[in-house]
Amino acid sequence: MEKTLKKEKLNSLITGLKDKGYKTIAPKKDNNLITLCEIQEADEIHFDHVQTNNSIKEYFLPKTEKILSYTIEKTKVSIEEPEGFAVKSVVFGSRPCDAASLPIMDKVFNWDCTDKFWIERREAITIVTIACDKCDSYCFCTSVCLAPDAKQGSDVLLTKISDDEYLVETETEKGEGLIKELETVFSEPPSGTPDRQVATVEKKFEIDKVKPWLDENFVHKIWAEFSTKCIGCGACTFVCPTCHCFDIVDECTMSKGDRVKNWDGCQFKMFTLHTSGHNPRSTQDQRWRQRIMHKFKYYVEKFDNILCVGCGRCSRVCPADMNISEMLEIISTDEGQPEPVSKE
Ligand code: SF4
Ligand code: SF4
Repeated sequence: MEKTLKKEKLNSLITGLKDKGYKTIAPKKDNNLITLCEIQEADEIHFDHVQTNNSIKEYFLPKTEKILSYTIEKTKVSIEEPEGFAVKSVVFGSRPCDAASLPIMDKVFNWDCTDKFWIERREAITIVTIACDKCDSYCFCTSVCLAPDAKQGSDVLLTKISDDEYLVETETEKGEGLIKELETVFSEPPSGTPDRQVATVEKKFEIDKVKPWLDENFVHKIWAEFSTKCIGCGACTFVCPTCHCFDIVDECTMSKGDRVKNWDGCQFKMFTLHTSGHNPRSTQDQRWRQRIMHKFKYYVEKFDNILCVGCGRCSRVCPADMNISEMLEIISTDEGQPEPVSKE
């Protein structure tokens, strides 16, 4: 289904969503940060940015959440499971790369066990994406088989066609249902071919050359060269829409407790530290190699998807100026490949 949305109708849209019982999450400016967060009014929405600082993932995989509570009385353990965590919501104005991360992550959260927290939130949340009309040097969606107007993961895709109007395209039944619920807000599609204002994102490397190189170079001096300046702060993993590692801890007394799931990250030294004191990834080059291998080799082999959508957040946020697309460019080109370290 195609429609148009005029900017002057945004107030009616956000009010309409509230009236229909949706929570609305949208980009909002707070000092120098543009954050996807809950909004109450259309005036709060920020449009003129390349990318939000946080990614969409925290609305499906929160930074921290209680997954059960328990009480212990002598030999009896009672368990209480949380309810009401999947809130009917619309994420409005996220970027296509963020939306594309969701079907990629669906595969791991429906794999060896089904994660009800992820699945129920996926059902409850509708994604209304705005195609990028500008980009920066960190963006590389076109190098990982996506585009600034990619449709994967979006229920509705908006594309700017003039300064005050968006083309509205529904991509799923859920998206179509949302547009029908609020049909008075939308206008009929333009006659003829609209002038879609979509950014041009430069292709930085040949993705087809990355995995074959990784297959052959688990041991290679390039890993140490790349990671020398990495300080292991983990910021890259927390802002990444496709990094999904978490830890589970019990916060408890002798008689009761909460089991809590918290974000974790492969760039932290303690991530793989065993109780024995042994750490199979004791150095930062091993941890950096794991991040690249997981995203561009292991996940591809297991789920047939690259675990990166080219949003560029990890490079924008890195205090040590590590740039993932520059590294992928180096390993995907013959000239950039140093000799491997001997495996003996
Ligand atoms: S953000 Fe940069 S310095 Fe921090 S762990 Fe990631 S690559 Fe290393
Ligand atoms: S690895 Fe970096 S560029 Fe790729 S999805 Fe994660 S944050 Fe975005």
